Amino acid sequence: MKLILLGAPGAGKGTVAKLLTKMDGSVQISTGDILRAAVAAGTELGKKAEAAMKAGDLVSDDLIMGIMGERLKEDDCKAGYLLDGFPRTIPQAEALKVLLANMGEELDCVVNIDVPREVILDRLTTRRTCSDCGEIYNVKSNPPKEEGKCDKCGGPVVQRDDETEEAISNRLDVYNEKTAPLAGFYENEGMLLTVDATSSDAVIDAIKAKLAS
Ligand code: ADP
Ligand code: ZN
Repeated sequence: MKLILLGAPGAGKGTVAKLLTKMDGSVQISTGDILRAAVAAGTELGKKAEAAMKAGDLVSDDLIMGIMGERLKEDDCKAGYLLDGFPRTIPQAEALKVLLANMGEELDCVVNIDVPREVILDRLTTRRTCSDCGEIYNVKSNPPKEEGKCDKCGGPVVQRDDETEEAISNRLDVYNEKTAPLAGFYENEGMLLTVDATSSDAVIDAIKAKLAS
C-alpha cells in the first residue's frame, strides 16, 4: 500500500506505520528518523537540519524534497510505502504530487489521525525513543523491560531533544499552522480518510476497511 500518515506529533503515525509494514511489506519512511540519523552521523544534511529540529521548527522544504526525491526511488519502495511525517507543508504536498506523477505512481489514500490535544501532550512528555533503532516507548504505558535500555536492540532509550515542554508546545503550534491545512488539501484531492481514534488498532481497522472498499 502507498499511504500518507497525517497527524500531530504524538498522534501515533510511527506506531501505526510500524504495524502496517507487518501487513504487506510496505516500508515506513519517516523524515524525522532520516533527519535524526543524519544529525547523529554529523553529515552535511544533519548540520543543516539540527538547529531547526532542536527548536521544534520545520526543516526547509528544499532539504526535505531532496531527501524524499531520492528515497522514493529506492528499490524497497516497490513493495509500497507509508509516509510518516511527510509532507508537512502545502509546498511539500504540491511537490510530492509532481514527483509521484513523474514516477507514474498513485497513493491509495491519506490517513489523518485525529487525537485530542490533551492526549497528545500527555503522550509526548512521557514518550521515550531508542536512539539506535527508533523504537518508541512510554514511561507510563509501555516502558522498556530494563529501564533506559531498548528491548529490541539494547540501545539507549532516551527523551528526544525536541521533547522538552517548550519544544513540544512549539511543534504543536507549527503543526496547526503549517501541517493541519494538508487535511483540506487532500480532502480536495478526494484522498482523505480521517480517523478519530486514540488506539492504533482502531486506526489500522479503519485503514483496512478503506483499502478494501
Ligand atoms: P513528530 O511527528 O513526532 O513531531 P518527527 O520525528 O516526524 O516528529 O520530526 C522531528 C523533526 O524533524 C520535526 O520537528 C522537524 O524539525 C523535522 N522534520 C521531520 N519531517 C519534516 C518535514 N517533512 N518537513 C520539515 N521538517 C521535518
Ligand atoms: Zn533499539
